[in-house]
Order: sequence, then C-alpha cells, then structure tokens
Amino acid sequence: MNKPKSVPGNSTCTRCQAPATLPCVGCQDAPILDPQIHSASYCNISCYEADKDKHEETCKQLQVHKLFYRAGDILQEIFYVYKEKIFLRKILSVKVMENGDVGLTMDNMDNPKQMAMMPTFAELFQKFPGNKCGSRGARKAVLTYNAGSDAVAWMHDMVKYLLDGIAVNIEEISLEPKNHRRQVIDLDPKQEPQEGSFKRYHDIFKVEIKNGEVYALDLAGAQFGYYNPVTPWEEYFTTRVEQITQRDNWEEYQHFGGLKKMHVKESKDLSSIDMFQFSQFAGLNCCASEILEETLWAWLKQHRLTAIEEVLDLPRDTYQIKRKELLKKIGEDLEAFVSRTRVNLAPLRALKAARGCAQQ
Ligand SMILES: [Zn+2]
Ligand SMILES: [Zn+2]
Repeated sequence: MNKPKSVPGNSTCTRCQAPATLPCVGCQDAPILDPQIHSASYCNISCYEADKDKHEETCKQLQVHKLFYRAGDILQEIFYVYKEKIFLRKILSVKVMENGDVGLTMDNMDNPKQMAMMPTFAELFQKFPGNKCGSRGARKAVLTYNAGSDAVAWMHDMVKYLLDGIAVNIEEISLEPKNHRRQVIDLDPKQEPQEGSFKRYHDIFKVEIKNGEVYALDLAGAQFGYYNPVTPWEEYFTTRVEQITQRDNWEEYQHFGGLKKMHVKESKDLSSIDMFQFSQFAGLNCCASEILEETLWAWLKQHRLTAIEEVLDLPRDTYQIKRKELLKKIGEDLEAFVSRTRVNLAPLRALKAARGCAQQ
C-alpha cells in the first residue's frame, strides 16, 4: 500500500511548527506545483480551527489540482484498459531494444488480398501481447502506439464526465511531437527497423481548469516514453511539441468532440475497399466506447454516487480502492462486450450494429 509521503509543510504544523499529525483532508495528496503553495497539516484540532480562514484560499486551489490530477490519472488508466481489451492489431513479436525503444513486428492486415479474406468483424479483436513486453513501461508504450487519435476520439465522453466541474474549457490539439524518450518502431520480418517510417502525429487535450491554469492532458504519451497524463501546458508545449498541426476539414472538426465526430462519420463510409477496414475499426470503437460510459454510470449508481467527482475527492486510501474497483469493472464489461461481439454477431450484422450506435 502507499505509505503517506512526507512532503514540504506536512511534517510540521502549518500554524505553530510543532510536529503535525493531522493533514488537512481537503488538500492532502494535492500535487506540489509551486513550492510556496503546499498542503496543510496541524498538530491538533485547535491549530486547525485557528488557521482555517487563512488556509481556505490555498486549500481550494490545491483541491482543484488534486481533482484534476486524479481525473487525469484515472482517464489514462481507463484508456490503457480500453486499449488492452479492444486490441485491434495483430502483433507477431515484440522486441525491447537496449535503448528502451520497442520494436513491433506486425501483421498489418492491410494488403487487399488479406482484406478480402479477413473481414469478419469479430476477428478484428486480437489478444494484447502483454507477456511479451517485458516491463510495464514497454507495455504501456505498445498499448498507446499511434493511439493519440484513439485517445482523443474514444475517450471523449469519459473526459467530459471526469472533468465536469473541474475544467472550464477543453480543446483537442493535433501536433507533431518531439523529444521522444523512447519510440515504438515497426520491424520488418527480419527484425530490422522498417525504412521510411512515416512521420508520426499525435493528439492530446488542452484543458483549462477552473482556477485559470492550463494543462496538456496526454493519455497516449507512453509511446514516446512520457507516462504522466497531466503536464502544465507551457512545459508540454516547449519541451514536447515540434509544431501544432491542422486536421483535414479542421474547421468542421476542430473542437472538443471533433475527432470522435470525424471517426463516427468515417465508420459509415464503406465506399472504398481502403475505407473498409478503417470503418470497421471506427465502428467497433464507437460501440466499445459506449461501454465505458454505461459502465461508469452503472458503477456510480451501484455505489450510490451521483458524480465521479465524489470519488476523486475521497481520502487517499478509499480513493485507491474505488479507483481499482472501477478499472476492474470496466475491464470486465469490455471483455463481455468482446465475447458478445465474437459469439453473437455475424460480420454484416455487427457492422450494421456499429453503424446503428454511430448514428445515435
Ligand atoms: Zn499547531
Ligand atoms: Zn487544505
């Protein structure tokens, strides 16, 4: 279990400097972004009472940080579970290089001959090769490989619900990343890096929270060796962004929810053979991402909670327990969805169902 960490200001009483044993429940565990602003602890209840008014403003500020960082953490974990269960790439081998890069040999399933053979909807599901990844970091890198756009599109509703009451503005940003700490690369069948790999683009959220601060929320940064979902915007922008890019038809889709809208539209476009596989992926993700939403509401209801914010605000230990429970439930429900889709649906019916979801 997590031991309480000694953080600046927590070891002595915020008011009288005596040894402190009572951390302020409101701001306990808030991340320390500014060494001048830290959470409060008290030696006894009378120091707490006496300091209450003075601490109130700082406490509020720190609580917003805490809720936001926790929301970012849960969103990222949900995305990892989602990618693991709805895994649509056929990976033949995983090779972790000495420098930490991860090489994948993939069956891309994208040559026309194979596509003509492939198209049963349920066969798109692949088993995620978690046991081949070696470390947790490499595992997350493989899960998020080229998944920035998936994160922004299919986590849209989760982001909306989890940041409700915390964020005042959310944007979707498409960018060209830089300063990779690690990379996931395609290997050819001889296990050599593939020539001419394309330039990678990435999608993230830019979030303004209610105290006016702005952050990058990057759920799929693990593929580049960055594992924290939340980074102050200026820091993210200067250290990790080569340039901001624009989407096709960007005016129509450049808003929060835009990427999902674009993919949902694509899921109905079966006009060309090239689009066929792509639209199946999108159709599947449309349905699967709705499971996330259903599970979240059902789980909250089961625990007699009305909003996820109540969970984010819990004391540390209870929060950790609830977080684990929710992730487990999401994993189970996604697995059930995969089984249902495998067993029940013939390809065309499945596709139709996916398009039905997408039209709602
Ligand atoms: Zn005191
Ligand atoms: Zn406080």
